[in-house]
Amino acid sequence: MPLRAKVASSVSRTAAALSRAAGRGDGSVIGGWIGLKIDPDLLAHLSAGRAIALISGTNGKTTTTRLAAAAVGVLGRVATNSFGANMPTGHTSALAKAGSTPYAVLEVDEHYLAQVLEATEPHVVALLNLSRDQLDRAKEVAMMAQLWRAALVRHADVRVVANADDPMVVWAATPPADPARGVDTPHVTWFSAGQRWHDDSWVCPECGSTIRRSAEHWWCTGCPLRRPEPHWTVEDDGVLDPTGAWHKVRLQLPGKVNIGNAATALAVAAEFGVRPVDAVSRLGAVTSVAGRYAQVDRDGRNIRLLLAKNPASWLEAFDMADEAPTLLSINARDPDGLDTSWLFDVDFAPLRGRQVLITGDRAYDLAVRLEINDVPFQHIRTFDEAVRAVPPGRLEVIANYTAFQDIRAELDRVN
Ligand SMILES: [Zn+2]
Repeated sequence: MPLRAKVASSVSRTAAALSRAAGRGDGSVIGGWIGLKIDPDLLAHLSAGRAIALISGTNGKTTTTRLAAAAVGVLGRVATNSFGANMPTGHTSALAKAGSTPYAVLEVDEHYLAQVLEATEPHVVALLNLSRDQLDRAKEVAMMAQLWRAALVRHADVRVVANADDPMVVWAATPPADPARGVDTPHVTWFSAGQRWHDDSWVCPECGSTIRRSAEHWWCTGCPLRRPEPHWTVEDDGVLDPTGAWHKVRLQLPGKVNIGNAATALAVAAEFGVRPVDAVSRLGAVTSVAGRYAQVDRDGRNIRLLLAKNPASWLEAFDMADEAPTLLSINARDPDGLDTSWLFDVDFAPLRGRQVLITGDRAYDLAVRLEINDVPFQHIRTFDEAVRAVPPGRLEVIANYTAFQDIRAELDRVN
């Protein structure tokens, strides 16, 4: 590395360590920020010589990154931003902290994918899904897909692992070739992990016609855009690889959605030459991810934490949760997005028949939604009150971002 980059990297590590020592989080944002101030090209310098995978999408990227890092770990040491700091400051900090590693698997905020592709020149990029998120801040889904597509046109040499079940992702992953400018289409490996949420992909991003669905298939009624044949698919509690071999996946993470994340992780690792048979057992070592899916016992209650940030992830959380008393907590602070009208995009009917408790800064917004959705609930003010209000046994907690962090803090920052 050039001298400036070496200095920047060293200062970045020190700043992150100081921030951690001062008890101000894991220090990855401030460390990366200072490093990039000293050397704006630091991320590119730190990426050089590493084989890198980027993982992006609206939902599941933290967990998929953790699983993919475990799978790629078959080959050697892997640098990763495992605590969800998924912007260039977080990537810079993670690579500086890890020192020299042959591999890196990085979670990337979908808005920063183009920029991080440019800086890191990855070997592979995984595109998970696109759906509405943080209404007051995030881009419209079609606009996001357009940005991804434009970024891939500039990086046609990158290998793409993409979700065949999401029309917006399929469109983004298949920009047209332009032989006149020497632009080829990227090589795409398709995975199918199922998709419960369809409300952001009823209209074709290519031609504006209606998209139709039948079982797992989908197709545009006005142009050739349709579901590609996937190379990797979830089948029962395992993953079918491109050779037709089926691998049982034993995870400590709940839900079919995580088997899908495992399929994606195996597909990403395969792009580095990792055989699924060698990687699949390593996935079972991943327990909770920054508190997500963590289980804590308190006063005879087994409390399980599920993070849900937007309508698509709430649907997945309902699917993962047991038929047990459930605490819902909603905040609308800066990291959550300030607009809670997305609550009306979620059908809470699956909770009928369960004991439902609500809390959080915006519990009353949730109360209105549940009343209209005909789901009885009880408002509680503190987490302890919630624990006392339910019988011994499982208590499922589903919360959005800062509400989740508040409850995690109540449970001594469980990981
Ligand atoms: Zn179309």
